Amino acid sequence: MQKIYLDHASTTPVDPAVWEAIRPFFNGTFGNASSPHSFGREAARALEDARQTLASFIGAKADEVIFTSGATESNNQAVYGIAQSLKHKGNHIVASRIEHHSVLRPMESLCRDGFKVTYVTPDDAGIIHPDDIRKAVTKETILIAVMHASNEIGSIQPVSLVGAMAREQGIPFLVDAVQTVGHVPVDVTALNADLLSLSAHKFYGPKGVGALYIRKGTKVASLFKGGDQERGLRASTQNVPGAVGMARAAEVCRRNMDEEIAGQTQLRDRLVEGVLQRVEDVKLNGHRQSRLPNNAHFSFKGIEGEALLMSLDMEGIAASMGSACTSGAMEPSHVLKAIGLDDELAYGSLRVTVGRWTTQAEVDRFLDILPGIVSRLRI
Ligand code: PMP
Repeated sequence: MQKIYLDHASTTPVDPAVWEAIRPFFNGTFGNASSPHSFGREAARALEDARQTLASFIGAKADEVIFTSGATESNNQAVYGIAQSLKHKGNHIVASRIEHHSVLRPMESLCRDGFKVTYVTPDDAGIIHPDDIRKAVTKETILIAVMHASNEIGSIQPVSLVGAMAREQGIPFLVDAVQTVGHVPVDVTALNADLLSLSAHKFYGPKGVGALYIRKGTKVASLFKGGDQERGLRASTQNVPGAVGMARAAEVCRRNMDEEIAGQTQLRDRLVEGVLQRVEDVKLNGHRQSRLPNNAHFSFKGIEGEALLMSLDMEGIAASMGSACTSGAMEPSHVLKAIGLDDELAYGSLRVTVGRWTTQAEVDRFLDILPGIVSRLRI
């Protein structure tokens, strides 16, 4: 049976060009980038080239980017780092209710240390309104966090407007851009971001490497203590193959972006229209237009999402309920609750995300198989 991967929001395969770029850094150019000898200098050069490439991809300067182990670390670093460095100014944070858990959980833990968080609810299409963020801000607010696009329902947020307001008020603004970097244009200046997190494996780079953009002048306390790597902000020997791979992945995305947006939008729309036409009692979640080119997210009445996923898997089709982090857990997704879905619709959810190598034939096979599974599960 030919397997079909429709779960690109969870992770993507490494692009062959990225794989080629990485290989020499495991054994040939394997030096520690902090070592002063020729092996180390060569690694350091590759690391700094990668930093420059990645920085320019998001409109930043090289010294505004630190390498991390992924977006979970980047988000933790941003939230705890700002809280630590600005706690003398205030103890209040404003965040969207649909942030990833790697943003929400650090905030929850700060609340146990005397911080307060105001969560802003999106509308029923999953869009956060900048005015609602503005209303939540107090004199004590030291951080605002709104993700660029939802990893579950794909809605793209009016981040630059939120950022402009944050800038006016002098409050640091964190943008989790994990789902957008490499997929739609991301420019830290246009978005008015002070902190921006990203993860390589979401855009055809390797797993376990990411980055945090920190605008010059934004003070963040470091999470890791140890060596002086990453300008003292992130102790630990740098992952040179990872950074090189992430930079190469960014280059490939930059080169193909317009074409990929057009191709994936067409596949996504075919998928959405196909599902809505062929299946009854199904709802598309997220905004119809302001959504990621690769994301379709549905709720099926009278169906357990887990059962639907298992049935699709038996047909060789890989999809997801929303985020890899929520599927498997018993709680319905906080994002689906935030857009007002009842438990039945929240549990009956399916996220289908296309990618660089998804074909129309694969989408059509999915569309052929889905209605039968749905009616079987509804009996
Ligand atoms: N933020 C968002 C929006 C995500 O989708 C993810 C990954 N699901 C993360 C953060 C965390 O990324 P990683 O697992 O690579 O640390």
